[in-house]
Amino acid sequence: MPQITLGNIRKSFGSSTVIPDFSAQIEDGEFLVLLGPSGCGKSTLLRMIAGLSDISGGDLRFDGTAVNEWTPSQRGVAFVFQSYALYPHMTVRENIAFPLIMDAFQKWYHIPVVNSVMRWKLMRRPDIAERTDHIARQLELTPMMDRRPANLSGGQRQRVALARSLVRDPSLYLLDEPLSNLDAKLRTQMRSEISALHKRVKKTFIYVTHDQVEAMTMATKIIVMNKGEIQQIGTPDEIYANPANTFVARFVGAPP
Ligand code: ADP
Ligand code: MG
Repeated sequence: MPQITLGNIRKSFGSSTVIPDFSAQIEDGEFLVLLGPSGCGKSTLLRMIAGLSDISGGDLRFDGTAVNEWTPSQRGVAFVFQSYALYPHMTVRENIAFPLIMDAFQKWYHIPVVNSVMRWKLMRRPDIAERTDHIARQLELTPMMDRRPANLSGGQRQRVALARSLVRDPSLYLLDEPLSNLDAKLRTQMRSEISALHKRVKKTFIYVTHDQVEAMTMATKIIVMNKGEIQQIGTPDEIYANPANTFVARFVGAPP
């Protein structure tokens, strides 16, 4: 069964329709890239899948179950944004553990504030410590767990931000242009780290980008979009070798 089914999804903001009618299936374990120019509706689509934005029409299903009414946390997704900020006063370990600490704290107290003593105590809870160490190992952050963000390189900071986004062990990873603020060298390095993470965790990734090279090198499947509509769905090879129309050919730089 396909893990995610988008059935005739529509999105309007007031009188303007950004996504008229979007249908696709995303299989379990896929690295799906949504590729298209700026403003074509990629982030809007991802936000609807995450539950951060209402669907105007249509049907979104996870493993066959309609999730239109589910909250983001019920959906079990991790959302990695384009811009990230670490907490400068916290160590790498605390930064990574922070979402878990907040979850535990809110479960007990139903308030969204946690002071440093509580934070320190919660950090030592075995489940939180274990999960934090695990994700740190996956992103090769173990040797720098006690450092603060000011003492890290740009690439290390980006990996900490990624670890923090992923620490909840989601079943679905949603990434919205996570590398677009990085320089070319770091972008190449992070590309292969995200691909390696996908191979290790064996979960479904949906990755939004306007960068053809990212799409071609990372995707198992690409959906090329323009103006809220699907232009082509296929593997990188299929799309490059056989672009469906001139828009796709131009956009991926394939011979028309
Ligand atoms: P992309 O991520 O592909 O660059 P977006 O999904 O951010 O595109 O935006 C698609 C279109 O929807 C754009 O025309 C944008 O202006 C519009 N849009 C996005 N969010 C809102 C909003 N909250 N209110 C009104 N229009 C929006
Ligand atoms: Mg966007």
